[in-house]
Amino acid sequence: MLDLLAIAAHPDDVEQTCGGTLLKMTELGYRSGVLDLTAGDMGTRGSPEVRLREAEAAARELLLEWRGNLHLPDARLENTLSARMTLAMEIRRLRPRVVIAPYWEARHPDHYRAGELAYEACFLAGLKKLDPASEPHRPFKLIYSSLYANVTPSFVVDISAEFERRMAALFCYESQYGPAAESGDFPDREEIRERHASIARFYGNLIGVRYGEPFVAKETMRVDDVMALGVRSL
Ligand SMILES: [Zn+2]
Repeated sequence: MLDLLAIAAHPDDVEQTCGGTLLKMTELGYRSGVLDLTAGDMGTRGSPEVRLREAEAAARELLLEWRGNLHLPDARLENTLSARMTLAMEIRRLRPRVVIAPYWEARHPDHYRAGELAYEACFLAGLKKLDPASEPHRPFKLIYSSLYANVTPSFVVDISAEFERRMAALFCYESQYGPAAESGDFPDREEIRERHASIARFYGNLIGVRYGEPFVAKETMRVDDVMALGVRSL
């Protein structure tokens, strides 16, 4: 049972897009989890076994209550009935109130497919007759992590206090970002850190904080008290 579940295509995706938010929610007392759809077996470096071990270490950095992997085919993720059903059954079991999915447009096909799969599986999970042996559950809210989408976010979460730990979680993927990966074509850690800090700084700047993570919601955001609105206009 989780409050917040992030669904991602690959291990190390949430560490780049919404890990600060997951960490922040855990510190607010919510149960946060991650479900990676593939084990990154098409990655140039490392193996699925190594990636999964690194994902576990990153999960500890992010204080996740739970992390799982569906082992769907990496780099050729497809929105099949079987993939939707498997994901829907996990959502029924985990019962998150809020789900974070990748934004529906992306360079990497796995990322937008993961967003599409997440949407459809969340819907299916709420159908009573989907599976008589399990309780239906439809998450209340589905939000999209839009960090790499270059679209105006619906809102930005302040992750100034979480950013360094999110970077530490990303660097748990030593096969991708470790010293061994630095020889050859992969950029070094300082370069990677600067890249991520620039992006987080850009989104943080939109809401007047140091570091932020952007999200898109399809529905209009509701406000009950306009006096409490943040982010200065003038
Ligand atoms: Zn990815």
